[in-house]
Amino acid sequence: MSGYLDSNDKTECFGCEACGQICPKKAITFKIDKEGFRYPEIDAKKCINCGLCRRVCPKAFMPSKNGNILAYGGYHKDLTIRKKSTSGGAFSAIVDSFCKKNYVIFGATTNKTEVYHTFITDKNKLDLFRKSKYSQSIIGDSYIKVREFLNSGKNVLFSGTPCQIAGLLNFLKGTNIDNLLTVEVICEGVPSPNYIEKMNNYYKEKYNSSIKSIDYRYKEINNKKSSKWDFQVMNIVLDNGKSIVKDRWFNPFWQIWLNHLMSRPSCYKCPFTTKERCADITLGDLWGVHLYCPELYANNSGCSLILCNTLKGKNVLKGAYSYLNGHVLDFDEALKYQSPLRKHIDYNKDRDKFIKDLSNDNIGYKELIKKWYKLPTLKLLYSKYIWGNRQKVFVWNLKNGGKDERND
Ligand SMILES: Cc1cc2nc3c(=O)[nH]c(=O)nc-3n(C[C@H](O)[C@H](O)[C@H](O)COP(=O)(O)OP(=O)(O)OC[C@H]3O[C@@H](n4cnc5c(N)ncnc54)[C@H](O)[C@@H]3O)c2cc1C
Ligand code: SF4
Ligand code: SF4
Ligand code: SF4
Repeated sequence: MSGYLDSNDKTECFGCEACGQICPKKAITFKIDKEGFRYPEIDAKKCINCGLCRRVCPKAFMPSKNGNILAYGGYHKDLTIRKKSTSGGAFSAIVDSFCKKNYVIFGATTNKTEVYHTFITDKNKLDLFRKSKYSQSIIGDSYIKVREFLNSGKNVLFSGTPCQIAGLLNFLKGTNIDNLLTVEVICEGVPSPNYIEKMNNYYKEKYNSSIKSIDYRYKEINNKKSSKWDFQVMNIVLDNGKSIVKDRWFNPFWQIWLNHLMSRPSCYKCPFTTKERCADITLGDLWGVHLYCPELYANNSGCSLILCNTLKGKNVLKGAYSYLNGHVLDFDEALKYQSPLRKHIDYNKDRDKFIKDLSNDNIGYKELIKKWYKLPTLKLLYSKYIWGNRQKVFVWNLKNGGKDERND
């Protein structure tokens, strides 16, 4: 099977960057295309045709997958950690279980609008990785560093998207990975970075200030125990201190991305959208929690779905039980609410038109939104804001006494 390096077909490149890191001649660099996504480019003058780049490409050679999954639903007992996390804070519990001594943790962090991978050797600095950054992170030389750390006897936890885990595993062929734990996020795609850039340009003009930070899953709406996890609230903070908070239904970013108008081309054919997984552990939101296990709703402050795909993953989860409130789930039930574990996203027929507008410097952010964003219908607003999930959970709690602390 060929991959992007031979076909030049953008749907065949996930942007995992394994090819660039394996190249012994540093002949591969990554170039940003018009849509804002990064692709490898080979410098023919430096290339010695060793073939290594083709051999690590997950499109051409998929690492082996596991299908013997243990599904667990739950949330971190510490409300502060839960609020600092995207879902239920499972990642923090997994880190605490795996990282006892001599460890290194890799994950995605952010500097203003740029998202990139780095590592920490002190888990007290985990805030750097907490919260999903909905943009493809730049891997840099992370895989090389993982290999160095493993070879020097460290316990390495690597977190990233499924295609990044696949790229890493292919890169590490021939390296002893007994001390490696791979943790992937459930992923239905990455949006074009051009969107945030255009929005940033608009803020620069309007407020004379640019984006300092983006919290895509903001939970500190109030200081109460409850939050708005399932509203996917986004908080953009500008350099001048201004904060712009919008929940999913009034946020053009969420609407446009979740309508699949601006995902990376490979995401429309993603081969990682199956229930067989490459990573040891898979983390996601426990969507549907209010319908099939409302005892884990946790006042809408976030709940995690944890899939353990290997024995290593299962043992690490066991060590994390003491940090979590939750219980084992029926995997098939959880699967119903997780389309990225069943199928890749559908190609939106307007995707190319939208991306063309997005990438056109003559079209400003305001104009773009006016053309492509649609206000939510009254029916939708009623179902989300008036009826919502809380009522269902409230009814369940009345009937069952709200028991929510099990670990089995
Ligand atoms: C691009 C993207 C798409 C996602 N899509 C879905 C989805 O469709 N359904 C679903 O249930 N869950 C999805 N998730 C996962 C979910 O948002 C949470 O990341 C996950 O549940 C972990 O949350 P947590 O509370 O356990 O921990 P947190 O502490 O919030 O963990 C964050 C973790 O995400 C990693 N991470 C953050 N941003 C990136 C990035 N840009 N690239 C790679 N890794 C990153 C960090 O390294 C860390 O491991 C997605 C995440 C990302 C990054
Ligand atoms: S064939 Fe070898 S030298 Fe050439 S780009 Fe690929 S890895 Fe680098
Ligand atoms: S190794 Fe990764 S970045 Fe390189 S061509 Fe394959 S998918 Fe793209
Ligand atoms: S949807 Fe698939 S190809 Fe796209 S970023 Fe996620 S794992 Fe990678």
